[in-house]
Amino acid sequence: MPATILDGTKIAAEIRAEVAAEVKSLTAAGHRPGLAVVLVGHNPASEVYVRGKVKASEEVAIYSEKHTPPETASTAELLELIHGLNVRDDIDGILVQLPLPAHVDAKKILLAVDPAKDVDGFHPMNVGYLSTQRPGLVPCTPAGCMEILKRSNIPVAGQEAVVVGRSDIVGKPVAMLLLNANATVTVCHSKTKDLPAVCRRADILIAAIGRAGMVTRDFVKPGAAVIDVGINQVTDRAEFNKFFAGHPKREESFAKKGSTLVGDVHPNVAEVASALTPVPGGVGPLTIAMLMSNTVRAAKLRRGLA
Ligand code: NDP
Repeated sequence: MPATILDGTKIAAEIRAEVAAEVKSLTAAGHRPGLAVVLVGHNPASEVYVRGKVKASEEVAIYSEKHTPPETASTAELLELIHGLNVRDDIDGILVQLPLPAHVDAKKILLAVDPAKDVDGFHPMNVGYLSTQRPGLVPCTPAGCMEILKRSNIPVAGQEAVVVGRSDIVGKPVAMLLLNANATVTVCHSKTKDLPAVCRRADILIAAIGRAGMVTRDFVKPGAAVIDVGINQVTDRAEFNKFFAGHPKREESFAKKGSTLVGDVHPNVAEVASALTPVPGGVGPLTIAMLMSNTVRAAKLRRGLA
């Protein structure tokens, strides 16, 4: 039986509706959650992401504001901006859109964000809270992976989970969340020996690699649940054919746009997995939904309401 396709767009909409209800009651109590997004310079991809974040805030009635210092802004100037946001009571979340220009000390900037307002969950304080199971702010994409599992009734406790990728943004935090949820967790990376064999142990396989369609059906134990975090743009016709040849919808959009998105998981995994997230429409929509959820959580934690 082909895998159940886990609809991230639908799950994200559920979460956004829950967030909107919480925002409404917090606002009624005089605590409207507020998010500040900092976008330095003009990176077209970052501008798209920031637009999406501001729009999502508006949809759930979170107060949001955008700060757009010029490309030439110095580390000192950005630190001053962050400090100003840290001390404002109406701002609960601060998000610094990455990447920052090369001349800026990005680590210094991220470290300057008040951990209580660090809605990306990247501050070492929040990393520590996660690994010691204390209440804090959890990175959005990994939190989204867990929501997909939970809301799809995929059991985690006692299961073998394999995470491919060990980045600070996805691989490591999702591994920690799975461990905290009592899975037996293996983390793989580019030096892992016999990756397909390790992956075949998984009841839950998470791919966060950044390589189009690398996880093929021979990586997957029949019946495993597969979460595909990867977002890769395919523009080459031969590569497109490896994944989607003859797929009418994909063919149509590839012909129109000259590109299509593919995850780290090959579509043929649907033939062996029990459940699979699509790309697009899987983990991606959860990332922004969890940012909204984190902003509300930050607002509640800061006011002792969580
Ligand atoms: P990174 O490049 O930071 O990390 C990739 C990881 O994959 C590294 O740990 C690397 O190993 C490992 N890796 C690379 N090649 C191989 C290989 N051949 N075999 C085994 N492991 C390998 O990427 P991110 O974690 O930031 O992102 C991963 C993917 O997720 C990307 O496609 C990105 O676009 C996507 N993404 C999607 C988001 C969403 O909202 N859905 C949000 C964030 C990311 P090593 O450490 O040894 O180098």
